[in-house]
Amino acid sequence: MEQDAIFERLLQIITNYRQQRTTDCFVDYLEPDELRQRLRLEEDRGRGDWDALFSWVEAYLAYAVKTTHPGYVNRMWAGANLPSVIGEIIVACTNTSACTYETAPVSTLMEKYMLTTMLRLVGFEQGCGQMTTGSSNANMIAMMAARNTALPDIKNKGLSGGPPLFAFVNADAHYSMDRAANILGIGTDQLRKVAVDEHGRMDTVSLERQLADVQARGGLPFFVAATAGTTVRGAYDRVEPLLALRRKYGFWLHVDGAWGGAVIFSDELRRRFLPDLEQADSFTLDFHKMLGTALMCNVLLFNRHQDVLRRVCSAGDESYIFHGGENGEIRDLGTLSLQCGRRVDSLKWFLDWKFYGQAGFAERVEHYLDLCRYAEQQIKRLPELEMAVPRESFNVCFRFRTPNGTPAALFNQNLREQMHHSKRALIGTGFVNGELVLRLLITNVNVDKPEIDRFLTAVIETGRELLQQKNSLQHNNTARRP
Ligand SMILES: *Cc1c(COP(=O)(O)O)cnc(C)c1O
Repeated sequence: MEQDAIFERLLQIITNYRQQRTTDCFVDYLEPDELRQRLRLEEDRGRGDWDALFSWVEAYLAYAVKTTHPGYVNRMWAGANLPSVIGEIIVACTNTSACTYETAPVSTLMEKYMLTTMLRLVGFEQGCGQMTTGSSNANMIAMMAARNTALPDIKNKGLSGGPPLFAFVNADAHYSMDRAANILGIGTDQLRKVAVDEHGRMDTVSLERQLADVQARGGLPFFVAATAGTTVRGAYDRVEPLLALRRKYGFWLHVDGAWGGAVIFSDELRRRFLPDLEQADSFTLDFHKMLGTALMCNVLLFNRHQDVLRRVCSAGDESYIFHGGENGEIRDLGTLSLQCGRRVDSLKWFLDWKFYGQAGFAERVEHYLDLCRYAEQQIKRLPELEMAVPRESFNVCFRFRTPNGTPAALFNQNLREQMHHSKRALIGTGFVNGELVLRLLITNVNVDKPEIDRFLTAVIETGRELLQQKNSLQHNNTARRP
């Protein structure tokens, strides 16, 4: 088959898929064993044969989750912005690495433009930044920057011999912090989880007690991360009280805005949720979450640390690949990265940015917040449902009310599975104060109030069915009793 014909066929398949991606069910769900059989992965089919190859493509699409579908409400992303999808297709067709100017000239300039734009927007001065593979990685690099800034010899001498290092995060912080503590030799025991207040925010009194305690025992409290939008509850740690503590204890202040950092596009929401962000030392934001850019698209920014990435990340002989820029300007972004090959993430960001602009992103985020408020109101109105905790921002944590004697956690877990397997909706769960809750997240441009109503109706119907089954089971049990 000619390459042109292959692309035509591909485009036809993509077009068909896109037409169905918000209709039918969000997934044709099968258990792994059955799906494995249907996919016939072992079959020798496809070697040099384009028809066979396209049959694999069709099989992939047939069982793929339609993340654009309004029933898909379980993760922090849903579908992808069309401009960024175009960017991804172009990136796949051109296939290059964004580590040198030579191999990726346009991407390098787009990434630099992006970083300058975002630094200005956040209000970081004389800063620098990088597109990374996601906020997990960004949190790790921020912690590494903090570690190597606190103890500059670490890069050469390693950890041994230095004072024990301690990092502090919200008890509900993302697990990537634990992983960072592991990778960086801090040790997960030295990652201190700070208790939260009734809003799910770090309790700064408890934090200060722990800081003082660590210091009194000869430890070095080198890193504190505020979470802007915790994963389950959507709580925003307040930055302002941390600034005073930073003056006293001298730690590095990072803000993990992977999820809720998107409020920076709206002046109103930023004032409300993230005041004082411009005072932090570093900040991470995922464009691939609330803002809808295709996975993965992240930006990590540093304040007043212009040279920090090179100082912290670059090591080893790079002379075969990197060729220094002029007048101190970095030419090859790979010099600042922990990776060698770097995927081009800048094009999809750039196309989204030009297409929607700051105003478009602001409207989107404000609209999502309105929808979350609406969802909360409806949940409070519906007798079968209840909020597990009041909503802090974008996360709606709720559950189906269960009759006395029915364990709520187990019931809601079953309800979730039942909704998934009956292809009605896929909703996330999480734990709030040790109790399982259903977590509704709205990050889908195809979702509006009618879809939220339909979703809540589906929850109620599924819950009622489960109660009926349970009653009939109990009935059977009683019937069987001698
Ligand atoms: C999603 C999330 C992360 C992880 O981000 P990835 O880009 O998926 O690696 C980190 N922190 C918070 C608060 C998150 O919500």
